Amino acid sequence: MAVKITEECIACNACEAECPNTAIYSAGVAYFYDGAEHPALSDDYTYVVPDKCSECVGFYDEPQCIAACPTEAIVMDPDYVETKDQLMAKKVKLDQIGR
Ligand code: SF4
Repeated sequence: MAVKITEECIACNACEAECPNTAIYSAGVAYFYDGAEHPALSDDYTYVVPDKCSECVGFYDEPQCIAACPTEAIVMDPDYVETKDQLMAKKVKLDQIGR
């Protein structure tokens, strides 16, 4: 399961620096994945790229961004349910293709 950022976000970007996968981007900013830039997933809130979020598996025991958020805007995303093995595979893929 990736995490997602809800409308509780105040766009302070405290979470962005905490992400070891560079999965978090500011509102309106294009994201980088698989060697290319892609359009921003939100123009209103700081956002998480599901393909880049490993729930911090491979780096930490818990998602670092959730603890960093002052408004509790970051929650588990039920649209992206993954096992620990799948999350680790996502982390390893990012090791190979770049973050
Ligand atoms: Fe990044 Fe970890 Fe938050 Fe996912 S859970 S967005 S990998 S800091």
